[in-house]
This record gives sequence, C-alpha cells and structure tokens, in this order.
Amino acid sequence: MSHAASPLAPNASQVTTRFAPSPTGLLHLGNVRTALLNWLYARKHGGSFLLRFEDTDQDRSQIEYIEAIKADLSWLGVDWDGDVLFQSEHAAKHSQALEKLAEKGLAYRCFCSESKLNLDRKLATSRGLPPRYAGRCRHLDADQVADRAKDEPFVWRLAIHADAGEVIVPDALHGDVTFALRDLDDPVVVRSDGSFTFLLPNAVDDAVDGITHVLRGDDHLTNSAYQVWLLNSLGYKAPIYFHHGLLLGQDGAKLSKRSGSHSVAELRDEGLLPGALVQAMARLGHPNMPDALHDSTAIAAHFNAEHVSTSSVRWSDEEMWRWHTRLLHELDSELLIPMIRPFVPEVQPQRLVEFAALIERNLERASDATLFQRLLAVDAALEAEALPVMREAGADFYQHALDAWQDNPEWKSWTADVKERSGAKGKALFMPLRVALSGALHGPEMSDVVAFLGSENIVARLESAKHLCLEGQAGS
Ligand code: GLU
Repeated sequence: MSHAASPLAPNASQVTTRFAPSPTGLLHLGNVRTALLNWLYARKHGGSFLLRFEDTDQDRSQIEYIEAIKADLSWLGVDWDGDVLFQSEHAAKHSQALEKLAEKGLAYRCFCSESKLNLDRKLATSRGLPPRYAGRCRHLDADQVADRAKDEPFVWRLAIHADAGEVIVPDALHGDVTFALRDLDDPVVVRSDGSFTFLLPNAVDDAVDGITHVLRGDDHLTNSAYQVWLLNSLGYKAPIYFHHGLLLGQDGAKLSKRSGSHSVAELRDEGLLPGALVQAMARLGHPNMPDALHDSTAIAAHFNAEHVSTSSVRWSDEEMWRWHTRLLHELDSELLIPMIRPFVPEVQPQRLVEFAALIERNLERASDATLFQRLLAVDAALEAEALPVMREAGADFYQHALDAWQDNPEWKSWTADVKERSGAKGKALFMPLRVALSGALHGPEMSDVVAFLGSENIVARLESAKHLCLEGQAGS
C-alpha cells in the first residue's frame, strides 16, 4: 500500500453521503461520529445525506433497532433526505452483480472447508507469510464446479489476488492509496448459507444510491481496496473516501462498553442535551472549529472534512458534559423549565419561572435543581455539607441573624448588622447565611436569594436553621 497526495476537491451541489448502520443494536458513540461526519459533509456542501439500513443479516437485524436508530438520529438533529433506504430491497442487484462478476471470471465458488482453511493459515503463518487464501478453488474447471456445487457447501470469493497490478482507493485524507493486488486476498462475498457479507452489498448500494463521498474509519481501508476493485470491475465509479482515525475510549482502548462507550439512549435518559453530544463529537479530531459555534448548522458551515484527523482520537465524557453545562446556560427559559420541573415537582408554575431564573447559572445539569430545594420549601433536604456548616455557626448566630433581619431587612445592611452582633466575618459570616437560606454551599448571588425569598421565607429558614442547631446540641 502506498500513498500519493491528490487534491480531491468536492464537487459542491453534487455531494451525496450516507449513514449505513446495520440494525443489530442501539446507536453508540462510534456510530454517532460516522453519522455526524457524513451529515456535516453533506450539509456543508449543500448535498444530500441518506440513511440506509444494512439489514441483510436477517437473523440479527431487528425492527426495533431500526426505529431506535431513527429516533436517536432525529433527537441529535441528524436529519436524512428522502425515504429511509433498506439494503434488503436491493437484493436482486447484489445477485446480478455477483453473476456479472462470475461471468467475467472475477468471482468463483470456493469449496474449501473451514478446517482446510485453518490449516492453510497456520502453514502460511509458520512460513512468515500473510494468512491469505491459497487460491485452491480459483481455477477449477466449470463442469467440476457445477458438479460439486450440487452437494458440497461453497462460498463465493472475488478473484482479486494477482502477482501484478494494483487498485487505487481515492482518499481525500490520505491521497490516493495504492494497493498492490499481490497484497490483497480473495475475500468471501457470499457465505455458505447464501447470504452476502458486507463487502458487495455495501459497495453496490453506494453506487446504486449515487453516493459520492464516504467518511468512515481507517479500519475500513482494506475493505475499500476490495470495494473499489469490485466497483471498477462492475463498471461503477467508486466514491471518494475519507478514512479518518478511529474514535477510542477514554482509556485509549478501542471504543467499547468497557472503555466508556454509551448508547445515545443512555445519554438521553441521563438528561444530556443532544447539542452537547454533537458539539463534543464534531470537534473531535477537527482542529480550527471556532469555539463560539453552538449549533449544528454553524458547525456544518465551518466543517472541513480535509481537516479531520487521520490519527485516532479519544472520547471524553467530561468534555461532552462541559458542553452540556454551557448549552444549558444558554437555553431559553421555555426550554429550561421543563427540564428542571421533574426535580422540583411541587412548585407552582410562576414560582418555578422565578426559581429557574435565579439558579440557572448555577446548574451543571438540570438535576442540580434539587440542591436548591430549600429555596422552595423550608423542610426540603439540605445538601450533605450544609448541616455541619449550620451547626458550626450555632443557634446563637441564627438568633442574631433573626434579630438583625427585624431591624435591617436588606442584604447589605443585614449582613453588616449580623457581623456586628455575632462577631463573625468573612466565610464564617456568609456561609451559614447561605446554607440557611438556600440549603447549598454554593449558588446564586445572596442578594438575589434574599430578593427571591422575601421576608417571611427568610425568617422561616433562619428559625429552621436555629432549630437544627439546637437539635444538634440536644443530640450531642
Ligand atoms: N454497515 C456498515 C457498518 O455498520 C457500514 C460501513 C460503512 O460506513 O461503509 O459498519
């Protein structure tokens, strides 16, 4: 394999990309990246983005996964053009392609048993050779083949391997990648049960669907060599590929459940904003994406597929959640309020609006609203560290705070008065007041908290803090 730089400028308006998942499971981070890259490329160039389910593996393909994948893509805002395509609907085209190849002598039946192939592979490896198909069935004569096919199981292979010649994969990231045919195998395209492997249907569908560009991981590079050979042999034009570096887990291992991959469904259940996943994913391996772009249309406009890294990149949950917090802070209240409501179900609608406005900048996730429940109900649970802070301040402190509030019901003059009466200052003054009023150690500006609560609520919370301190003393 060798690389030669060749500028492959996209032909604007004519771009068609696709996302071609096998519906055998839920959408995971790796698939999201592939879908997103192809979507961004199509949207950037004003082209089309198709969704094609590669559902030829009938045993494992499941209707519910088809629906789940569509729902996840929609949730992410990755919209496809036209009807959803199904590979199984092109079955006749796949068979015709195989027939055509067989007629030209470019595909052949192979009767070698699995044990024979294993032996061949072991032998090749022991001689320091690649474990390639030995070519035993390649030159069987036609009568013999017809005879054996009647009662012997067989697979179909492509007759690619040759001593001379090459196949060139047009790749916009690597330049043209040249594979010598002597380095390629005769891959299986039809299994012994008659089902097609990935190679032929995927390539033929790309041609039939008019796919012009394919962005996929560099683990597909050798497949692409087979597929370009196949397409050339069938008289189709191969798409331009972008074989990008793989997405790795947080630990640098191949992305899997163990290395921290998630399904989109899981993330949605955790309350993640879809934009956060899009932002974190679109920026992976893509330098020069301006930080200020916060919606996927803007990201698409700046997307430069030629910049996508050919080195592997690591996934980071932290980065995704950082984006979540950022986007949460930018949300309009009509969108934010329904996210907060499940965590503070008791509150009246108007009070919820005021509550949301007060705490929005202090939320990393919508569930953080529970930290501030004391702002809504005096008997709400306190943040774990709040009670020790209250008890450290003591009942007398809160009595001073109550007395001072009667004389100075305004944040600045109140705190000055509490300071004078209690002798507490700095953190020892402000922290006990904060935890008494809001229930949390950190949160909105205290002057805003005071305005939000109003006198009656403030007194109730100071009384409650005093009692919690007295209870503590009684219990100790
Ligand atoms: N169905 C294939 C997969 O899910 C598609 C690969 C490709 O993008 O060509 O891996």
